[in-house]
Amino acid sequence: MAHDCCSSEECETESIKQVSNTVVCPSCEQKGKKVKIQTLQAMLAVTLEAIDHSTTYRFCRSADCPVVYFGEGGDSFVEEDLREQVYQKHPESEDIFVCYCYRHSPGTIRSEILERGETDVVARVTAGTKAGTCACDIRNPQGSCCLGNVRAAVKQVEESLGTEKQAKKIQEAPAQGGCCQSK
Ligand SMILES: [Zn+2]
Repeated sequence: MAHDCCSSEECETESIKQVSNTVVCPSCEQKGKKVKIQTLQAMLAVTLEAIDHSTTYRFCRSADCPVVYFGEGGDSFVEEDLREQVYQKHPESEDIFVCYCYRHSPGTIRSEILERGETDVVARVTAGTKAGTCACDIRNPQGSCCLGNVRAAVKQVEESLGTEKQAKKIQEAPAQGGCCQSK
């Protein structure tokens, strides 16, 4: 009896099984962190019928990879399928949220430091998570707490401000008669 493989449901299940051990992103081949189906349900801008409830989805944080979520069954969603832009995919952007619950971006952190000389954003986010007023699993594309990213963003902004200050100092410093003095 000929076995019509590709029309049977059994075969489909079989092919999913074959790749079920795949935990790396099908595009960049980096490992991804598991996310809840609830995170996809909240983040997707496309029909939720696209979610395969029999699989586990993971988040790809590679900046140069278009895939945001990939299922262990081989399906994936790219940033354009989401309702939010993904911080990890735009490491140089000032405008994309790093904290999706309280709406902080590298740009808002920068403004705060420029205005007040410092930022207490890490303390504020920490207080929020302790009080349980955040909703990272449904607001943050990575599906988990943003605190590590916020800390990194603060450091990055502080470093860039420090570099800018230093560059300005060098620019403003009067030339001391070196060979590069123009007049
Ligand atoms: Zn990837």
